[in-house]
Amino acid sequence: MYDTSGRVTTSVILIPYYLYEIIQGLTPDWPIPSYEHPGTGSAIDRVLILLYIHDIFNDMDSRQVTNHTCQFCGNHDLLYTLMAYEFNTGEPFELWKCNNYNALFTLPRLSDRELEKYYEKTYYGKRKSLVDQTITRERVGALLRLAGNKPKKVLDVGCGNGLFLLGLQKKGWDISGTELAPESHINHDVSRFVCKGPIEKCERAFAAGSFDIITMWHTLEHFTDPKKYLAEAQKLLKPGGLLVIEVPNFTSLQSRITGRHWYPLYVPQHQTHFSPQALALLLKKSGFRPIHISHGTFFYDVFGFVQSVLNTVCRKKNIFFDIVNGKFGTLRQRKIGTRDFAVTVLLAPPLSLISLVFYAIEKLMGRAGTMRFIARKI
Ligand SMILES: [Zn+2]
Repeated sequence: MYDTSGRVTTSVILIPYYLYEIIQGLTPDWPIPSYEHPGTGSAIDRVLILLYIHDIFNDMDSRQVTNHTCQFCGNHDLLYTLMAYEFNTGEPFELWKCNNYNALFTLPRLSDRELEKYYEKTYYGKRKSLVDQTITRERVGALLRLAGNKPKKVLDVGCGNGLFLLGLQKKGWDISGTELAPESHINHDVSRFVCKGPIEKCERAFAAGSFDIITMWHTLEHFTDPKKYLAEAQKLLKPGGLLVIEVPNFTSLQSRITGRHWYPLYVPQHQTHFSPQALALLLKKSGFRPIHISHGTFFYDVFGFVQSVLNTVCRKKNIFFDIVNGKFGTLRQRKIGTRDFAVTVLLAPPLSLISLVFYAIEKLMGRAGTMRFIARKI
């Protein structure tokens, strides 16, 4: 299903090309010129189109179907951007872009029920790995600072295993959560504060205007209707309450360089792909005023870069992810070949070092792989 022929050669040409663009201060369209407006670019664009000619032919049929509608603004002229593949099965999904919002939509749009089958049992995890603990500690610290160290009433939408809520509870916070994963995935001490289901089903469990802070850590991109979730958050927050959202940024440098192999594309689980402009606009239209944006979250960015580069050269995807998370059983189940395993083990350490430098550059440029918004309810 995957076509990796010529990928390495192409990457060798593309990376210096992007570096050249960055040095020149150019900001061409993501992800590579050949996918957008073929034939309208410079000579170098045309060379790239030739290199990707096979992909263009593959995508030709889907180019002809153009009557998709933007979920945010109703724009009917979405632009076909890229074909991405489900990491395990290789099932193809198309990414279509709304130029008004600078957002990408995964098509076909799937219902929550249809999406369920893509969430493998191990996706959520009840584990307390070092990585989990580090991410949780940083998030808890950020919330404590935001609240001026006064305990608040918080709702975490898509709370996963609940470790973040547990951390705040220990600091005396009044905690609530929502989660779609089965109850067994949620930490036992937190479980009774969690409404199991989509947010509209949880409406009765939570009073309107009752929360000081609502958080969405890497959840908004999963929802088939992000607007609905923002509207609910607006309703549930107290006047002047704060919404904290962290999502991947598809206009990041790492997404540009690795294209369809960019780990956080994560189709079809990731239904919407945000740019900073898209999220800011959507928040404003949903009754919020963005008050702070920060670019880059250390673990997500470093890991995202290493895994995405490895995905460009390995036949099977996300092997580094399984290794980092100690999912060796999954590696065996997925029948990872010796070549892929060796490439991952050999390249991961040097790539990790490179990713540290890359992370610093991404952050400086405001083009990191993740972005965190803090917005106030108007
Ligand atoms: Zn739109």
